[in-house]
Amino acid sequence: MSPEAQAVAEFGERDLGPVRVLFGKDGGRYPQGNSLLVRGTRETVLVDPSLGIVARGELALSVDRLVFSHCHEDHVAGAHLFPQQPWHFHEADLPGIRSVDAMMAIYGFSGEVEQDFRRVLTDEFHFTPCPDPKPYRDGDVFDLGGVRLRVLHTPGHTRGHCCFLIDWDGSEDRVLYLGDIDLSSFGPYYGDAWSDLLDFERTLERVRKIEARWYVTFHHIGVLETREAFLERFDRFEAVIARREAALLEFLAEPRSLAEVAEHRFVYRPGDAVSFADPVEQRSMGQHIERLVAAGRVRRVDDLRWVAC
Ligand SMILES: [Zn+2]
Repeated sequence: MSPEAQAVAEFGERDLGPVRVLFGKDGGRYPQGNSLLVRGTRETVLVDPSLGIVARGELALSVDRLVFSHCHEDHVAGAHLFPQQPWHFHEADLPGIRSVDAMMAIYGFSGEVEQDFRRVLTDEFHFTPCPDPKPYRDGDVFDLGGVRLRVLHTPGHTRGHCCFLIDWDGSEDRVLYLGDIDLSSFGPYYGDAWSDLLDFERTLERVRKIEARWYVTFHHIGVLETREAFLERFDRFEAVIARREAALLEFLAEPRSLAEVAEHRFVYRPGDAVSFADPVEQRSMGQHIERLVAAGRVRRVDDLRWVAC
């Protein structure tokens, strides 16, 4: 059995019109992910080549170009298998793929965490720089011949994060690919240097309104069949932001430093063994503090500490 046939048997795949979802191991649970192969009469595009693509080895179908929802380790993990094809990123995320240093700037880690993740990026995610990535923008359409992949710029997770709306001739059906608006119970991730909580909230407002026949996430939620199922997941996902903020306000009943906030854990659970939990907690919850200060709900006590008003 070929590696591809073995991966299909083990991880699964599914056709939604001209869109084939290539599931990753464990249903695409991080660090794995689900990639899309979108086929028109003229071109075939591979979206977010994940570790599942690495496991498949050579794909039976030829690929004309790679389109990335954003520049993160798990979404570029299989890109090195396609050195001849053009690699397309939103213009805001595009600099990250040019070098390891540029990629590391997206996360904004420092010290030991930075050193560790730099190694993980190359050893586990096969990071391979691309000297000549191609930019795309909001509203751009990849016309594959009877099948169109439309770009929706949905920043927040990263600056250039995008969703893709895919439609095709002869059908009213559409597929909305959500990338890392992954509808997981973990909730929205906005803990990198290139993440932004307020952008993420505006993005959620925009994405909620988009109607499609199928909704697909990169991670383990996979394919959602109905608008009802989508909205139910979506609302729960979005509610995590308010839950983190309410918990933070409660914690700030006494003056606390950002280090204490990070140690308490609002994004991850206290026992989660995540090497970068500390900087991610600081960046995520720091953004909540910032907006609570602006709203007059939190004030600074001294150089280090904040308290709820
Ligand atoms: Zn991501």
